Amino acid sequence: MKVLKFGGTSVGSPARIKHVAGLVRRSGRNVVVLSAMSGTTNTLVEIAEYLHKGNIPGAQETVNVLAAKYSQVVYELLSDEASRQAATAAIERSFAIIRSYFSEPFTEAGEKEILAQGELVSTALMSAYLSEQGVRVSVLPALDYMRTLPGGEPDMPHISARLHRILEVEGEADVYITQGYICRNATGGIDNLRRGGSDYTASIIGAVLNAEEIQIWTDIDGMHNNDPRFVEGTSPVGTLHFEEAAELAYFGAKILHPACVLPAKLHNIPVRLLNTLEPEAPGTLIFNTPPDGAIKAVAAKDGITAIKIKSGRMLLAYGFLHKVFETFENHRTSIDMMATSEVGVTLTIDDDSRLAAIIDDLKHFGTVSVDRDMVIVCVVGDLEWHNTGFEGKVLAALGDIPVRMVSYGGSNYNISVLVRAADKVEALRRLSAALFK
Ligand code: ASP
Ligand code: MG
Repeated sequence: MKVLKFGGTSVGSPARIKHVAGLVRRSGRNVVVLSAMSGTTNTLVEIAEYLHKGNIPGAQETVNVLAAKYSQVVYELLSDEASRQAATAAIERSFAIIRSYFSEPFTEAGEKEILAQGELVSTALMSAYLSEQGVRVSVLPALDYMRTLPGGEPDMPHISARLHRILEVEGEADVYITQGYICRNATGGIDNLRRGGSDYTASIIGAVLNAEEIQIWTDIDGMHNNDPRFVEGTSPVGTLHFEEAAELAYFGAKILHPACVLPAKLHNIPVRLLNTLEPEAPGTLIFNTPPDGAIKAVAAKDGITAIKIKSGRMLLAYGFLHKVFETFENHRTSIDMMATSEVGVTLTIDDDSRLAAIIDDLKHFGTVSVDRDMVIVCVVGDLEWHNTGFEGKVLAALGDIPVRMVSYGGSNYNISVLVRAADKVEALRRLSAALFK
């Protein structure tokens, strides 16, 4: 059995839903994870914002626009009266839940329940369409098996037991469909796996079912070896190690939710990134492949701030770094990259909301200076330290671009450099030219 996940744009219109249904039918007896139709979760967030602010007319108006959109989808997607009625009933249930909060005090729990409706509706639509096509569909309700622990991590034993039980009860079907993103929390309330969480759902299901493969279907043909928005002639990467994929996802390649990688990786389930618009293309296969001596891809992460702490005294005497790290911990700000010398240490952060307070605290330990508007450019591949030449190639490619810091050796898979935002595009282009041409 495989797990196939389709994102919001892949099911973003009646035509796209029909197209995905075709892919689903051809793939065989698998579990299909769906996101909400594109734009829906954002609209639900907006509705929740109106309700938090007590702006009921704002919420009503937004709900009405969304409801009208879905009536249109039902009309265009489905042709027989019975399936239109079934889909409409499911959609109305979801909208009734949303509207019930117009007259009730609005809480965090209410928001979570509203956010859950997008996936409930998209799965209802897909299942109605497939049924209309004569496919025997079984819908696995995510709220009946997907659950998180108090810390927000998935409760794998619970999920596994429940999902296996549900599959047993459901019995034979041509295809199983389930909602991505939504879950219950440790206290049983409706919750979610955070924005973009459908990939995570797919990975968790793949792990508990010991799937043959997890397929993440999006709108591009796999993970590219550089950012196609800035660099011409990028190409899809054929295979990636899980660690390489995690580095890339973290450092800006938007295609895969970073946490998604973990359950699949731990359970040794291959993840394949595929393109709904070009289903025959090989895409990218992510697996625990042995290192293959190649540089795979370049990615950039924007909005980085570098903070340098310099001291005339023996800066790196033991205990010093502890104090520096503690400062960041106290401000709940995570560090991306670091470089040390005997007289100073530079750290980077991407969340500068606590910057002023962090700087203030760091001044107890040394002279602090800050560089803003920086970008981490990350080169990913088989960068185990005995493989010679790659570091040199990366730095040589950058030529006269000023490099603020370099990080290498933290893992076997990455070398990162920090440059000014203004130099990002040029850096990406030069790296592509040097590494992939
Ligand atoms: N619908 C959710 C979102 O837009 C989850 C997902 O698409 O992965 O974030
Ligand atoms: Mg996504």
